[in-house]
Amino acid sequence: MMRGRVLKDRIEGIRLSQVSQPLRRPASDAKVATGRQVPLTSVELLCAEIVDAEGRTGTGFTYTLRAGGPALFALAEEIAPMLLGRPAADIPAAWDMLAWRTISLGAGGAAYHVLAAFDTALWDLKARRAGLPLARLLGAWRAGARVYNSGGQYLEASIDEMRGAARASVARGIGGIKMKVGQPDWREDMRRIEAVRDAIGPDTALMIDANQQWTRAEARAFCRRVDDMGLAFIEEPLEARDFAGHGALARELVTPVATGEMLTSFDEHAALVAAGGAGVLQPDAPRIGGVTPFLRVMELARANRLTLAPHFVMELHLQMVAAYPTEGWVEYFDWLEELFDERLEIRDGRIWVPDRPGFGLTLSDAARARTVSTTTLGAPPEGGT
Ligand SMILES: [Mg+2]
Repeated sequence: MMRGRVLKDRIEGIRLSQVSQPLRRPASDAKVATGRQVPLTSVELLCAEIVDAEGRTGTGFTYTLRAGGPALFALAEEIAPMLLGRPAADIPAAWDMLAWRTISLGAGGAAYHVLAAFDTALWDLKARRAGLPLARLLGAWRAGARVYNSGGQYLEASIDEMRGAARASVARGIGGIKMKVGQPDWREDMRRIEAVRDAIGPDTALMIDANQQWTRAEARAFCRRVDDMGLAFIEEPLEARDFAGHGALARELVTPVATGEMLTSFDEHAALVAAGGAGVLQPDAPRIGGVTPFLRVMELARANRLTLAPHFVMELHLQMVAAYPTEGWVEYFDWLEELFDERLEIRDGRIWVPDRPGFGLTLSDAARARTVSTTTLGAPPEGGT
């Protein structure tokens, strides 16, 4: 802390909002097919708006699915005062302070989800102060990233619906289609993969995602069957923390194994990578604590020559994928679109980094309308309630 100096970027205020965003249609992946989860009906977000001494605001967020929305808000409300008065630009030090203050909760999990809301808001603020999109503040390698869509490709969709959704995605400029697999009968999965491949033709990337529901034997058998189909990757064939199993499977296949979305820290990603468990690494910035640990995961991925394909929240991850040295993937979801005033541009199989500074996003009236709890400490940000 730089005591005695007037800091223009001193954190003067924080507004926290717990937002519940419903899905238009419940979504089921293999975790529902095995009875472990119920269909997803909403995304529960924790938004943080951080105001500095010059009145600038950075906006960030984290999320959880099915459970934990109120818990994230409660923990955020408890620890937010620790940030007031600190220099907003010194993000790793702030992150470390919050991580130590919450260490009893475990180095990951809900605590790191909450850290992500603050961390992404601080990175947004830093990029806004620099007048740059976050991708360019980090150092961009390209103006956008390849984008794929799994919308309409969940287990509840019929083959006709999947083919229609896949064609519509390609027509609107999406560059790849990811299908959910893990039907009780593997032959049904094969039929669906072949039908979607037929619908999109040979030139559009196709991926499959088993959402952790195969045993090692089932995964090995199925992945060998599809290994010559030219899939861009096979996602979560095994339970997310079966690093050794992922490593053994990855060594057996030509098709890259993709995983990492369920992990909640840099250290878990390091263990996965050490086991050789991923050719395509899928970190989720809100789950691992935000941009600060995500940048460390990017260096880990780079050192191990992995493809970067973050999970969900294209609104955040686009900026980091554009700042990775080799081409990765961004996952398209329209689930959060209404929460922001801005829309991201998609064309030619790619999603494009907006010209606006930071993440280039502001919370919309719909986000305010879907806010179930909110609190403001210190100076309030402009806009909203
Ligand atoms: Mg997935």
